[in-house]
Amino acid sequence: MTTEITFSSLALAEPILRAIAEAGYTTPTPIQAQAIPQVLAGGDLLAAAQTGTGKTAGFTLPILHQLSTRAVQAPKPGRPRCLILVPTRELAAQVEESVKTYGKYLPLTSMVMFGGVNINPQFKALKSRVDILVSTPGRLLDHMGQKTVDLSGIEILVLDEADRMLDMGFIRDIKKVLAVVPKQRQTGAPQYHGGDHRTNAAPGAAGAQARSAGAPDQAP
Ligand code: AMP
Repeated sequence: MTTEITFSSLALAEPILRAIAEAGYTTPTPIQAQAIPQVLAGGDLLAAAQTGTGKTAGFTLPILHQLSTRAVQAPKPGRPRCLILVPTRELAAQVEESVKTYGKYLPLTSMVMFGGVNINPQFKALKSRVDILVSTPGRLLDHMGQKTVDLSGIEILVLDEADRMLDMGFIRDIKKVLAVVPKQRQTGAPQYHGGDHRTNAAPGAAGAQARSAGAPDQAP
């Protein structure tokens, strides 16, 4: 079956549509056509899509829309509204680049952090406004421990390639993050290994994913 879905029919804000057009995208990929409306509707999302299917835009575009259209109280430095957790520094850099590309006409700020590099520039950056934070789990925990990042304002949480993060042994780290982000949040968990384009917008679907991330700790 062919679809006639366009980016404008997905009701994304005009500054986002402009950035997409500049990136040369004409139509949404299948994962985008399925995921974007679900995230815009405010539901949790558990999606499976292989790399190269456009999954990054599938979650970054609606997140940018949500953040740009929701009223925000006085933003505080180092207190992001969206946290995107990723397994590797390469993916972190790539995802933040996408956020910057698609959000170039929006008054939103983003930051990427990962380990293995000097932490001082990250301390400095966290003294400014950061709306969207893309991070690997380990370095995020360093900042949480030093109280240089405040996750109490998280409205949207994304566990990008959550299955890979679990494979890499990040369960405990993810659990510690989940313990401090507000319970009333939107969660997305686009998977890495999936070969299809399943989306599941059932309320709590990704919450269940998040909870299962902590299961081994409760196991005997
Ligand atoms: P990803 O699967 O997120 O790694 O994206 C793979 C590549 O597809 C990236 O280089 C994107 O820039 C590109 N891309 C994402 N969405 C679209 C689209 N709707 N049309 C054309 N290219 C896209």
